[in-house]
Amino acid sequence: MFGKGSFAVDLKRIRLFLFDMDGTLYLGERLFGFTKELLQVIRASGRDYRYLTNNSSKGVGEYVAKLERLGVPAAPEELITSATATIAYLKEHHPHARIYLCGTKSVRRDLENAGFAVPRDPRLCDAVVITTDTELTFQKLDDVCMLLSTRPDLPYIATHPDLICPTEYGYMPDCGSLIELFERATKRLPVVIGKPNPLMVEMGMRALGVTPEETAVVGDRLNTDVLSGIRAHARTILVLSGAVTRKEAEHSEIRPDLVLESGADLLERLKNDR
Ligand SMILES: [Mg+2]
Repeated sequence: MFGKGSFAVDLKRIRLFLFDMDGTLYLGERLFGFTKELLQVIRASGRDYRYLTNNSSKGVGEYVAKLERLGVPAAPEELITSATATIAYLKEHHPHARIYLCGTKSVRRDLENAGFAVPRDPRLCDAVVITTDTELTFQKLDDVCMLLSTRPDLPYIATHPDLICPTEYGYMPDCGSLIELFERATKRLPVVIGKPNPLMVEMGMRALGVTPEETAVVGDRLNTDVLSGIRAHARTILVLSGAVTRKEAEHSEIRPDLVLESGADLLERLKNDR
C-alpha cells in the first residue's frame, strides 16, 4: 500500500507537470495567486502540464468552464479526470461492454460519446461502473446490488476511492463510500481507477511522450496524488497548500521526493532555473 519516493527532483529534467487541482492550484472557488504565472512559466520554458482530478461528478467540459471562470484558459485535452481514465480502461479491457452506470448525466454523456451503450435497464448490461453520483436514487442502489449479487463474473469498476467530498458545510459521501455500501450488501470490491492507481499519471505521460524521470506529479494529498506518482515511478512534489500539514507529511509512510509550501515555491524555483 505504501510507497517511498527516493529521487532527488531535478527540475531541469522535468518536461511534464501533472497537477492536482483543488488544494494545489485553487481552493474551492478561489484561484491561488501564483497559479496563472506558474502555468505560463511552465509553457514558456518549453515544458507542458496536465490537470488530474479524482472527482468524477463533473464532465470534462464543466472543468474547462470552471478553470476559465477562475481565469485559467484550459483545453479539454489538458484534463485527465478519473472518469476519462475509466473510459480509457474500459476501451482497453471491456471495449464492447454495455454499462450500467451509477453516476451523473455528464458521465453518461462522456461514456456515450466514447461509443459505449449505457442502458438504464440493468438486465441489458454486462459491466457496472460507479462514480460520484449526485443524482443517486434508491433504484440505482437496488440495480447495482442485483447485478453484483446475481452475476459474480460481471466487471465492476469504480472511478475513485475518495470516501468523502468537501462541501460548504463539511463533507458529503463520495465514490469510496458507495464502494463500502455495495461491499456491505454484496461482498464485492471494484477495480478502482483514480489516484492512487497510477493509471491517470501513465495516461498523461503517454499522451505527451515523456518518461517517468521527466514527469512530476504535484498535489496536496499523500495517499492519492503522491502515491499515484510513486507507483508510476514519476517524481513527486507535495504542496502544503491543501489537505496535509508539514507535521503529517513528516510522519507519513508515503514520502514525496520534494515538499514545498505551495506552488509559489515551485514557481520561484522554475524562474530561478533551479
Ligand atoms: Mg487536491
